[in-house]
Amino acid sequence: MRIEQEVKLDFKDVLIRPKRSTLQTRADVDLTRQYTFKHSQLTWHGIPIIASNMDHTGTFAMANQLAKHQLLTAIDKFARLEDWERFQAENPEASAYCCATTGIKKEDEALLAKILQRVATPFICIDVANGYTQRFVDCIGALREKYPNKILIAGNVVTAEMAEELILAGADIIKVGIGPGSVCTTRLKTGVGYPQLSAIIECADAVHGLGGHLCADGGCVSPGDVAKAFAAGADFVMLGGMFAGHEECAGEKIQENGTWYMRFYGMSSREAMHKHFGRMNSYRASEGRSVNVPYRGHVEKTILDILGGLRSTCTYVGAQRLKELSKRTTFVRVTQQLNEVFSLLQVNEAHQDKSS
Ligand code: 5GP
Repeated sequence: MRIEQEVKLDFKDVLIRPKRSTLQTRADVDLTRQYTFKHSQLTWHGIPIIASNMDHTGTFAMANQLAKHQLLTAIDKFARLEDWERFQAENPEASAYCCATTGIKKEDEALLAKILQRVATPFICIDVANGYTQRFVDCIGALREKYPNKILIAGNVVTAEMAEELILAGADIIKVGIGPGSVCTTRLKTGVGYPQLSAIIECADAVHGLGGHLCADGGCVSPGDVAKAFAAGADFVMLGGMFAGHEECAGEKIQENGTWYMRFYGMSSREAMHKHFGRMNSYRASEGRSVNVPYRGHVEKTILDILGGLRSTCTYVGAQRLKELSKRTTFVRVTQQLNEVFSLLQVNEAHQDKSS
């Protein structure tokens, strides 16, 4: 047994130090990026934020809205072929901003093949909870051989050596994050994980050294966290919880005491297993949970909020383009992020109301 003594960091442990800037207004900031990928040699242009391939957020309705802003959506792997076909027919341009998700089972691969025959999506997201198995590495190799011209996103990992291995196996983009997700219980159930900011910094260094790209996946709870993920070296940021609870999401709407909520659950939760497979195998623990998130209306407002925050971050450090953000970032370690006096007051007042 070994202990690594160096402190590893999460989004909550740092802030971005402001720098003198000549930018006039945040409207001057360009959030689009253009990437050419290592293996596929395809070039993609857009704002590199991806709605997670969870069945709640990875929907065609979400893709429709996000594509209008040049953001990506990873469509969940349970989407049916006919829904893909309808989407492609109704929104031919939006297909360029979709990822098809697949697992590593035979039937996943068969569905993927049919989708890619009919739909012009350039991205394939190979989704497994644990990106550390040899079977997964072999699967990336096989997919790369079969689809030399598709952009392969593979994960999830949190360490440099495995990120490198997946790139060498044929992945273009490595998805980084084990345990930080809003409805993930991996750390609780297994004790396994890695603080997300350090995981991004360390994996970005490794992946970029090989000409690959990195997608930070999980743990962002505010536009500030999205900015920190990019500042830490992520080329893409994937969001689940921040896109949850919107009209464009799939899932039950529930009314409780006059307030509307939407059901949101982890993809390896008991609820997801029952929904998609009709059962939960007894040898595996549920590594996700279910929550009711407040219903937030259309996702458009949330998109503008995230993009507005990001533009403002860039202005604070003098980055005219998102591309310059990480180069211009100095993180400072902090012991406090926010002044929470009013939220504490509200809690106290609620307490007093109850006791009086
Ligand atoms: P969020 O943005 O909500 O913090 O994180 C979203 C990410 O959490 C997803 O993209 C996925 O990688 C991860 N995730 C989704 N469902 C589960 C789950 O049931 N268990 C675990 N361990 N991770 C999950």
